[in-house]
Amino acid sequence: MDRLHVLDNVTTCSPPSLGPLVDSFGRVHSNLRISVTDRCNIRCVYCMPESAQFLPRQDLLSFDEIERIVRVAAVLGIDKIRLTGGEPLVRRNLPDLIGRIAGIPGIKDIGLTTNGILLAPMARSLWDAGLRRINVSLDTLSPEKFLELTRRPGLESVIEGIIAAKEAGFDPVKVNAIAIKGTTEDEIVPLARFAREHGLELRFIEYMPLDVVASWERDKVLLASEILERLERDVASLRPTPDQDPRAPAADYDYVDGKGRVGVIASVSRPFCMSCNRIRLTADGKLRNCLFALEETDLRTLLRGGASDSMLTTALRESVSSKWEGHEINTSRFIKPERLMHSIGG
Ligand code: SAM
Ligand code: SF4
Repeated sequence: MDRLHVLDNVTTCSPPSLGPLVDSFGRVHSNLRISVTDRCNIRCVYCMPESAQFLPRQDLLSFDEIERIVRVAAVLGIDKIRLTGGEPLVRRNLPDLIGRIAGIPGIKDIGLTTNGILLAPMARSLWDAGLRRINVSLDTLSPEKFLELTRRPGLESVIEGIIAAKEAGFDPVKVNAIAIKGTTEDEIVPLARFAREHGLELRFIEYMPLDVVASWERDKVLLASEILERLERDVASLRPTPDQDPRAPAADYDYVDGKGRVGVIASVSRPFCMSCNRIRLTADGKLRNCLFALEETDLRTLLRGGASDSMLTTALRESVSSKWEGHEINTSRFIKPERLMHSIGG
């Protein structure tokens, strides 16, 4: 069966109902992650195949279409937006989109997740457009390892991007590093030391089954507990950061010596589904109520078919209300979504 469905019962033209996007488990959704492209200028082995097929340009949502969806979502309580991809900085005129989103009433916070390769020359214009949070993905400080993991050169550009982001005013600059057993263990300590030295907030993400078909295995997940043990042993003692947002996916720790903070996103070993407040929009306009969702709601067809705000509102509400309790990575019931990470938007 085609897992995509257009809401065929969305036909009414009554005014949009107000009130938050709540699912059947009482979770209120305030966070929308928008993928602006499925394309990327590198090829991380855990995210996309070397010969990835990309969407034709006409299939991507236009900035007008993205802005329209955000306007409707903002009325329903979405106040936090994160732009991602693929690599969001390869989408032309991204600062224009950021400026448009920043101007939407109700939007309080805009973030961006990037591989950092194109960041150095763009950092200032992103800041000027209204971006205030930035996460740069960087898994290693070794040029050889970088080439092995991303199948492309570019480490120097990423480091320059991080420095430029700091200079532009982003504070903190966050760095995301994926943790894969047998592949990135030796990167943990150098990355942690680098982050402490440069005042960056580092977060390790457990490896998730959203990669190129069948290369993920449970044994390759470097657990958050193992990462923390290694940091305590080889970098410095840690204690849980007080007063953390219980809905945030990362568990944060402060170094006891006062020199910085580090986080772990334990999506596999300690799923945070019960506090999830996120929905996702793919670059081709499909709404996903979970990173691991098997079904999507086709907002692009609605938009291009002349849907009213009321119809879009209903589509958003129905998607959220049908959200499952959580992913089942840790059970035999888990089904890997057909979409790879780069085409969902991590
Ligand atoms: N290209 C941008 C980047 O790399 O930051 C944004 C998109 S990327 C899909 C977002 C994040 O997803 C990155 O931090 C990346 O490391 C992470 N990621 C990709 N594949 C993953 C996987 N299989 N498991 C866990 N994290 C993954
Ligand atoms: Fe590109 Fe980001 Fe995927 Fe790496 S993780 S291939 S940078 S989209």
